[in-house]
Amino acid sequence: MSKKNFNRREFLKRAGFSLAAGAAVYSGAGRPARLFAAGREKEGFATVIDLARCAGCETCVLACRGKNAGRYPEPVEDIPAYWPRKGYEDWSKERERTDRLTPYNWLFVQRVTLQDGGEGRTLNIPRRCMHCVNPPCANLCPFGIIEKTAEGAVVIDHDYCFGGAKCRHVCPWSIPQRQAGTGLYLKIAPQLAGGGVMYKCDFCQDRISEGKVPACVAACPYKALHFGPRGEMLALARQWAAELEGDLYGVEENGGTATYYVSPVAFSLIDGALQANPKSAPLAMTPGLENPLHASTATYLKAMLIAPFAGAAAAGLAVYKQFTAPQEVEQQADKKTGQTKKDTEQGE
Ligand code: SF4
Ligand code: SF4
Ligand code: SF4
Repeated sequence: MSKKNFNRREFLKRAGFSLAAGAAVYSGAGRPARLFAAGREKEGFATVIDLARCAGCETCVLACRGKNAGRYPEPVEDIPAYWPRKGYEDWSKERERTDRLTPYNWLFVQRVTLQDGGEGRTLNIPRRCMHCVNPPCANLCPFGIIEKTAEGAVVIDHDYCFGGAKCRHVCPWSIPQRQAGTGLYLKIAPQLAGGGVMYKCDFCQDRISEGKVPACVAACPYKALHFGPRGEMLALARQWAAELEGDLYGVEENGGTATYYVSPVAFSLIDGALQANPKSAPLAMTPGLENPLHASTATYLKAMLIAPFAGAAAAGLAVYKQFTAPQEVEQQADKKTGQTKKDTEQGE
């Protein structure tokens, strides 16, 4: 079936399938079969981001924008508001912004100033999707339209995305960004379901499937970004961290990612400085973050309330089956909900 012909009937069929598949995904180890299949094929790729080398020049940001500009959303002129909210997320008038993630900017350089050993220091941190090993965004998406590819990329299918934003809610770093007035929800129930389409870095999946490195990596003039087989990248990251007597981020966080940050400054210090700034707090770098799918239930119950459509039932059933630690869950959910709310405020 052509995506252009995707209609209400096909949508309902797919939603029904998702309901059943959702329960299966959340049972047992809570990991989709496609991830096991991908793991068998190859180890996938990863990136090392060396904060000691990043000069904050934003050449990588420009490369990303140049490569992906043709995929940015073109919303309708009169964007409908959706119930129960009266507003919507529209970034189309701020396409030039490079100081944060938006549907039109999938990579940005976050700057943090902190005190390290009594001295002031500024670090530049390229931020984008971490391409998690077992991505909660993909596992929670009620329509199954976020895929973890064999190469390790976590990719949103923009043609089928409803923009319910549960992926952002469950992402520890609130990475996916929503543009209203575009996508399938306009054809199905524009005032009731979803709210647009979610956008984020896709690891340049087209380039890496052709054996090329991502555009941002190729463009960096300071060799702060490195890309290669996961095992090699992890060894490199560990070696550089040891040479710097520094720190590593992204190896264990969220259950493991395909993005390893190396820093001359401890990530606990970086995280503290980011958390202290309300604008950067949603994109903090908290060491040891757990994958919320392994840690809580209430996060998803709240996600269901936020996204009022078909997938809510699938997520709810699965959550009910899988999790058993309500108190810990409640604390994590409250923390995460606070982050998401801040992120939304930051974006409006
Ligand atoms: S990663 Fe490279 S291109 Fe990007 S800001 Fe840092 S130094 Fe510049
Ligand atoms: S960083 Fe967030 S959006 Fe990216 S794969 Fe991980 S959970 Fe998903
Ligand atoms: S991997 Fe590709 S999509 Fe992701 S930030 Fe780099 S250039 Fe952009």
